[in-house]
Amino acid sequence: MPELPEVETIVADLRPHLVGRTIVRCELLFPSIVRHPSPELFASAVAGVRIEAAGRRGKYMQFDCGSGLLLVVHLGMSGQLRIVDATRPVEKHTHAVFTLDDGGQLRYRDPRRFGRLLLGREDELIAANKMPRLGPEPIDPLFAPDQLYGRIHRRRTALKAVLLDQSAIAGVGNIYADESLHRARLRPDRPAASVSRRSARRLHESLRDSLTIAIQNRGSSVDSYRDAWGELGQQQERLLVYGRGGQPCYTCGRPLATIHIAGRTTVFCRRCQR
Ligand SMILES: [Zn+2]
Repeated sequence: MPELPEVETIVADLRPHLVGRTIVRCELLFPSIVRHPSPELFASAVAGVRIEAAGRRGKYMQFDCGSGLLLVVHLGMSGQLRIVDATRPVEKHTHAVFTLDDGGQLRYRDPRRFGRLLLGREDELIAANKMPRLGPEPIDPLFAPDQLYGRIHRRRTALKAVLLDQSAIAGVGNIYADESLHRARLRPDRPAASVSRRSARRLHESLRDSLTIAIQNRGSSVDSYRDAWGELGQQQERLLVYGRGGQPCYTCGRPLATIHIAGRTTVFCRRCQR
């Protein structure tokens, strides 16, 4: 599933091609991919809007259409958002096609259909339960170590479960939770409340390192993730623990352990992580 670095890569690639463009038409080939408002209202309201800015909150892409109106795209498990020439044949599993005023098309494709398209003001989407109220951005320069400590030390769940909670910290999923906990030398299953202020500082640094390195490497193509041009990322070749259960730890050589936390496969080193 695309996480913060993958979504950030796509938004950064799309930004120069989308900002300043006007959407002249929207065709929904699988209307239920729109979750707010109704597909009919969505298609008519999005036609004619000019994209003022392209940003990201957590795993949500947000295209600012002026006056606070946002076109929001969540890629779910297998969503892909690409700009293509309008003459290119429409690929299978394409659910929405936005034609732009320069003749290009923004196409949303999603074989597993867990993604969603939304249109509205942020508070309206949150009130309609279409988007959670997201926690702080871990790569925001203003996100302080003590803020992370404040968000984890009161929680009774496993430490990894807090990292996966989008209302606690935005944008972290299974890949970068395992990676940052390994870098911070913290066990994913230890109670969040047992983490000291000092360990939280280490986790803060490793979260930012894991995410920014992955952005530099254009994300992890561990599943179906592709960038805005349909190309693979490169971070999957550099992952320390994710997807490496049973293989030797790069630090100590012991086989990495696999457990389940919050229903998610979790890989860590029993020797290096405490
Ligand atoms: Zn180890």
